[in-house]
Amino acid sequence: MAEPTKILILGGTRNARDLAIMLAEHPHLDVLTSLAGRTEEPDRTFGKTRVGGFGGASGLAAYLRNEAINLLVDSTHPFATRISQNAVEAANAVGIKRLVLDRPRWVEQPGDNWIKCQSIEEAAQQLPLHATAFLALGHQYIDGFSHREDVHFIARMLDKPKTPLPLKNLVLIIAKPSHIAAEEADLFKRHGITHLVCRNSGGTLIYAKIKAARELGLPIYMLRRPPPPPGESFDNIEDLAAKIIRLYA
Ligand code: NAP
Repeated sequence: MAEPTKILILGGTRNARDLAIMLAEHPHLDVLTSLAGRTEEPDRTFGKTRVGGFGGASGLAAYLRNEAINLLVDSTHPFATRISQNAVEAANAVGIKRLVLDRPRWVEQPGDNWIKCQSIEEAAQQLPLHATAFLALGHQYIDGFSHREDVHFIARMLDKPKTPLPLKNLVLIIAKPSHIAAEEADLFKRHGITHLVCRNSGGTLIYAKIKAARELGLPIYMLRRPPPPPGESFDNIEDLAAKIIRLYA
């Protein structure tokens, strides 16, 4: 009996977890998920997991060699560009196949009012004077708003930041986003939100805030998504899983 195919899923997203579940029932696939270890949220993994950075592209390449990985799957967040670039370089260096999950970006619908931004700085600059802005962003994006002392910020994050955030007027909410638009709308109303700032992450689970903003007529400063990594990519996990199963199971 041939050795199982060793698959490393670069994760940190719900998609990566769901893919690992789909592949788990195939005994000929040996699936391991890798997480950066940034969030304390436990529900992003399934099955075998390793945690922590590899040490750049060369570290990832060494890991792929040492663990005799046959297939690398990039199912990281669309804004996690460094690990995706490392994946490209490492898979090329080792000479193994790499597949990408590139979940569809959100598209403006009738009733939406999006101001598309290239960067956080652009969003911060454009927020109107004395706005009450909801930041659906991680702590790494917050510095760009620090000069806007006139704006009242409500920021929602999964985990409490390790260092204080540099915003003068800030209410920090440590919580997962709701998947229910009415709950997001209630939250926005409770805090008197006038504008939303978020990234075009795509996916269905966190779309509720976009629907809520539409219902309330709130403008959204929408950060454009960076270009996806090169290579064979899939816009849904079902097709990606089917390809892996066809090739290796
Ligand atoms: P990033 O800037 O692309 O990556 C920064 C560094 O974190 C990488 O160079 C790598 O360190 C390490 N890393 C990232 N993903 C890893 C993984 N799956 N396994 C092992 N190491 C990983 O990414 P980020 O924006 O900081 O996001 C970190 C992780 O959180 C990603 O896995 C992403 O899928 C997940 N996530 C991010 C967001 C977001 O908003 N950006 C949202 C949801 C989930 P080394 O160079 O040392 O290997």
